[in-house]
Amino acid sequence: QDDVHRITSGQVIVDLTSAVKELVENSLDADATLIEVVFKNYGLAAIEVSDNGNGISKTDHSMICLKHHTSKLDTFEEVNSVVTYGFRGEAMSSLCAVSNVTITTSTKEEAPRATRLEFGKSGVLQKSSVVSGKKGTVTCVNDFFEPLPVRRKDLVKNARREFQKALMLLQAYAVICVGVRFIVSHIPAKGSKNVVLATKNNTDLKGNIGDVFGSNGMYGLHKVEFEVDVGTKFRIRSKQTMKIRVSGYISNSSFGQGRSATDRQLVFINNRPVSFPKILKAISDEYKQYNHLQFPVILINLGIEADYLDLNVVPDKRTVLIHNEMTMIEAVREEFKIIFSENVF
Ligand code: ADP
Ligand code: MG
Repeated sequence: QDDVHRITSGQVIVDLTSAVKELVENSLDADATLIEVVFKNYGLAAIEVSDNGNGISKTDHSMICLKHHTSKLDTFEEVNSVVTYGFRGEAMSSLCAVSNVTITTSTKEEAPRATRLEFGKSGVLQKSSVVSGKKGTVTCVNDFFEPLPVRRKDLVKNARREFQKALMLLQAYAVICVGVRFIVSHIPAKGSKNVVLATKNNTDLKGNIGDVFGSNGMYGLHKVEFEVDVGTKFRIRSKQTMKIRVSGYISNSSFGQGRSATDRQLVFINNRPVSFPKILKAISDEYKQYNHLQFPVILINLGIEADYLDLNVVPDKRTVLIHNEMTMIEAVREEFKIIFSENVF
């Protein structure tokens, strides 16, 4: 039974990055305005996510890490119109299967007291104790992947790279979540804690971009905002056309003093970080026509109606299926062609 769970869990929690992603999304779902992430020894020893969100009420404590337990969906139909990040109730149970999880949580009623919860591999609550704590939740994931020796070995081998990948995703959330302060730090096996990413409670995206990518050359950031029409082909309900709102920022050559920036290209769909290399390539290709630099800083948020999306293609929701994808990419490319030709890049 446990083994079956471990194998299927591997699909939600595929790597360090997906673990971090699920924890941060839970904090965001709890309306946190401050999220602190601490990696101990690149996350090999522990990943700790603390937030100042709503906390978890006592009646839910024993259920948090049980498979398919979620406090976020009431009916099955809601799956198609989700506004929270989580809705499947799989992340915490999967994390328990592949690591040692403890949660310390407090609601505004419970504070200044909190409850420390220890969970077993099957997600069953094993121990609960009263401690002191502020409103919010601290989730500790210890000895990540230890129950899966092959994956653990792989993770140990690629620890730095995996840590960098997780950091990239945290940058994406730190940029897009306006009004949420992120502090990310690393504690090496030997040595003291160092902060690797920090944002303020900025009131706009541009402030976040400055905090995450460096404010050096901020004037080189060009705001983009347009709408593209992507045809009617797959529209099921009516003859309305599929419109996509594109907004964000693109850098000109003065940003970041001309260093190339593949690591500073972020795509979001409806404010969620996604992996969408094809659209980044299309924009970068157009950019090349106007600038000797290959990779501008790109931050684009695609506003797409839920009808045209399938967020459930892979369990970690990073890969997305979009109807009329090629048409959309070409339409976006054409818009950027105009933007680049009409502005100084
Ligand atoms: P989902 O997010 O899909 O509901 P998870 O397995 O990620 O499922 O989390 C299970 C439940 O645990 C959530 O529905 C939520 O009630 C609770 N939870 C987990 N982390 C937090 C947190 N940081 N703050 C508040 N509640 C949390
Ligand atoms: Mg979740």
